[in-house]
Amino acid sequence: MSDFSQERLALERVRNIGILAHIDAGKTTLTERILYFTGVSPWLGEVDHGTAAMDWLPEEQERGITILAASTTCPWLDHQINLIDTPGHVDFTSEVERSLRVLDGVVVVVSGVDGVQPQTERVWHQADRHAVPRLVFVNKLDRLGADLEAALASLRDRLEVEPVSLVLPVWNEEGLEALIDLVGQRLLRFPPQQGMVSEPVPESLRDELEVGRELLLDAVLHDDERAMECYFSTGELPEDEIWRLVRAATIAGRIVPVFCGAAKPKLGIQPLLDGVVRVLPSPADRPPAEGVGKAGQGLSGSRLPTEDAPFSCLVFKFLSEGRGHRSYVRIYSGVARTGDPLLVPRLGREVILGDLGRVHINELMPVQAARAGDILAVDGLDDVVAGDTLCDPDAPIALEPISLPDPVMYVALEPRAEEDDQRLRQSMGWLRRRDPSLQVRVERETGRQLLCGMGELHLEVALEWLRREQRITVDAGTPQVAYRETPRGSAEGTGLVDRLVAGRGRFAEVRIVCAPGPVGEGVNIRAVERLGAPRPWVEATVEGIEDVLRIGARAGFPVTDLSVQIAELRHHDVDSTEQAFRLAGGLAIRQALAKAGCAVLEPMMRVEIVTPEEYMGAVLGDIHSRRGNVLDIVARGKQQSVQATAPLAELRGYATALRSLTQGRATHSMHLETYTPLPAKLVDQLPGRS
Ligand code: GDP
Ligand code: MG
Repeated sequence: MSDFSQERLALERVRNIGILAHIDAGKTTLTERILYFTGVSPWLGEVDHGTAAMDWLPEEQERGITILAASTTCPWLDHQINLIDTPGHVDFTSEVERSLRVLDGVVVVVSGVDGVQPQTERVWHQADRHAVPRLVFVNKLDRLGADLEAALASLRDRLEVEPVSLVLPVWNEEGLEALIDLVGQRLLRFPPQQGMVSEPVPESLRDELEVGRELLLDAVLHDDERAMECYFSTGELPEDEIWRLVRAATIAGRIVPVFCGAAKPKLGIQPLLDGVVRVLPSPADRPPAEGVGKAGQGLSGSRLPTEDAPFSCLVFKFLSEGRGHRSYVRIYSGVARTGDPLLVPRLGREVILGDLGRVHINELMPVQAARAGDILAVDGLDDVVAGDTLCDPDAPIALEPISLPDPVMYVALEPRAEEDDQRLRQSMGWLRRRDPSLQVRVERETGRQLLCGMGELHLEVALEWLRREQRITVDAGTPQVAYRETPRGSAEGTGLVDRLVAGRGRFAEVRIVCAPGPVGEGVNIRAVERLGAPRPWVEATVEGIEDVLRIGARAGFPVTDLSVQIAELRHHDVDSTEQAFRLAGGLAIRQALAKAGCAVLEPMMRVEIVTPEEYMGAVLGDIHSRRGNVLDIVARGKQQSVQATAPLAELRGYATALRSLTQGRATHSMHLETYTPLPAKLVDQLPGRS
């Protein structure tokens, strides 16, 4: 492997990219091929044999899917490609979201047999939200039924983009034989032992080359008068000039460049890597990082991606590996070295930058300095979490934190022995740092610990970590849906504490008004102006209210989407205490919620299913039996696409059910859309609730 670890690279020669795809499109296989051809990995991993290097976590190898993003550096054409692996399963979309925050470009893998699939569309829109430029690799062209034209049409129709081919496939009777390089005007072959060889395009393929080139130039020329003039006067355009135009159009989002091939038999990987270097942006092409700190606190402003700017980086991932903690950081500006003190605005204090390195599969190769534009691993940062900014203490800035979705499922944890219970409690912090989209709650009635996450697989993987890495023997109940409660209307509540405890009086009286708030806005508690009470008492009251909201009033689920106004606090000169106000605040909100009445809300998922026509009846019938609601049905080529909503509670095991209903021919994606009231008769059936 050529050593990039010590060398100082120009920013323009760095590419921070990720690979996104619908599950089974070939993301892991492609990643393996990239590692192999860039010399990072001396062996070729095969997902089908569970030896994929990027899937090195045991739970990934077992399932043959990619769960955790790990970062790997691959040298190519004098450039450094930092490759962030991103998981494909819906339960891990927050992981994808976190990766997108720090990437500069994305390779979207599309199966040449299936075209754009529901999950492709979803990750595409996720990338849209982060304004990350993309190119597409149409994979599996070696397979029977592969159709590049149909795949391009699906990009046009479903993603509403303009795909522009940079290479074209050449087939013979045995399958995919070679590629035509439209920019270099060469025929590319991929003999098993030689990697890639190029030869002149034979006469029989000249027409295809001409047509393909024409389409390519048409798509990019009109953006640039100088190039247009050159082309029309000479009939030619230098290769570099074409790449420059394609690159500009890609970064501006006007076109989506398309490469193609077949990852499994190693066809078309080198041209794709060339494409990554030539058309995807470097950190210097990206907008400056913006601080989101409050004005006046000096944490706002922006940072240009240069080494001269003050240092700033974002922690986007945290792992416990082997001996200690390892954080992954994206450096946005400046330079820092091991031992440098850095400010963590969230903590309000400095930490010392630990050992820096690049991760090669799972080993750390040391580097001297953290420089703008790079992605690195840092060991020994004990107190940071994903989403933290680390910055120059003399030029503080807080970058936008990473948004976390609310968990929609949970399991109750049942440790086997006393000591496991102890260790479990200690491990919860570890677990949350490892994956911030996990949450831990304590159940009111039983005192049991609840582990909350984004889906069954997410929870299963977290439990696996506890067992394997923390060596805790823990049983878990069946995953349950995380419901919520919300008040049905506005109501007033008062709470009065007036009693004698150990010979001393305790007094506090609180009056509040609660009202439903906008969906998704959470909880908003504030005191009326001129409340005139000492601040500690107001704070204690707020805490008392929050205590109750966390555990719920009616069915034991957290109360959300409401506003609470503290209208009045009455105190007694001698007997009032913070503790009394905390209690009174809790009593007041309980009373208000009881008066208003609470609805139980359930997570409602948006589901898209793409299925061959003949299974439509079965798919629709199944959706209806899951309290689902079909919103729309549209034809997608030979397939039908069904848009529906259905409650998460009814979607358990949906992937398996859909597979057996359609003999594995339908695909789907789902994500949380909103929360809706649970039908009354189902509220009564909720287990173990009072
Ligand atoms: P991922 O879920 O996107 O990571 O997809 P994988 O890389 O795990 O691939 C899914 C399946 O497709 C595996 O059985 C691969 O061997 C197979 N596969 C991947 N790429 C190709 C390809 O180019 N041609 C063929 N025929 N099969 C492929
Ligand atoms: Mg995979």
